[in-house]
Amino acid sequence: MQKDQLFTRRRMLLAGAAALGAAGTAGLVAAGGDGEAVRAAAPAPVAGPQARQALKSSAFRLQPLIGDGPPKAAPRKLKVRTEPILQISGRGRHMMLTFDDGPNPEYTPHILDTLARYDVRAMFFLCGECVVENKGLVARMADEGHVVGNHTWTHPLLTTLSRKEIKSEMGRTSDIIEKTYGEHPQWFRAPYGAWNRAAFQLGAAMDMEPMAWTVDTTDWEEPGTSTIIDRVESGAAPGVVVLSHDAGGDRSQTVQAIHEWLPYLLDSGYHLTVPPRRL
Ligand code: ZN
Repeated sequence: MQKDQLFTRRRMLLAGAAALGAAGTAGLVAAGGDGEAVRAAAPAPVAGPQARQALKSSAFRLQPLIGDGPPKAAPRKLKVRTEPILQISGRGRHMMLTFDDGPNPEYTPHILDTLARYDVRAMFFLCGECVVENKGLVARMADEGHVVGNHTWTHPLLTTLSRKEIKSEMGRTSDIIEKTYGEHPQWFRAPYGAWNRAAFQLGAAMDMEPMAWTVDTTDWEEPGTSTIIDRVESGAAPGVVVLSHDAGGDRSQTVQAIHEWLPYLLDSGYHLTVPPRRL
């Protein structure tokens, strides 16, 4: 518990400049796409699960840290979504960068170096089997204020798996992220963007929100550095979530491209952000 708190405090200090103040996750993240998703993001009725959650969170924050209080985490229940979150609130020209499939010893350090050079925080959706081999990179992500999410253990197509197999893929990954990053992940992303009901239900049960993306750089196709740059720059808009990959193949084009599109986004007045920690 003490170690977790240290991790949290360190991350909060480092991420301070990029954080969005006291805005809660629900305020930052807006479901995009169709009407169904937008309705899903609307405030719940007074007696709905979100209201109950708010009460529970507040109550938990008022509990003493020592003594006869409840065990270390109060029970939390996220609403089971039927669509993943596709974009964030664009207020203040915010955008979010996400990198999937790592960490990878060859490419991830270069991406972290470039993000550090421009003082930018991003999200990394990690695969458990890569975390095992690259624990130091996950610790570096924590130290440098990045947010990590769960991208399953072996990157399978979830829609072909049993519920039990999906639970294992997601649960093992959350466990190793908690050990190496210092906090339980609050976000997950289905490999290939292939979601199903079991994934939404299990994610909510594991206290994770489903995060998709708005703009795919298609870097996984290795289309050439200039194409990747063009995809990001032409897709840039308030609220956009950009998908790139720091593993899963030859990502030298991704590494090269970010040198160009990252300063372009900053020069264009975009604020690159990560979700604030949910309490
Ligand atoms: Zn992936």
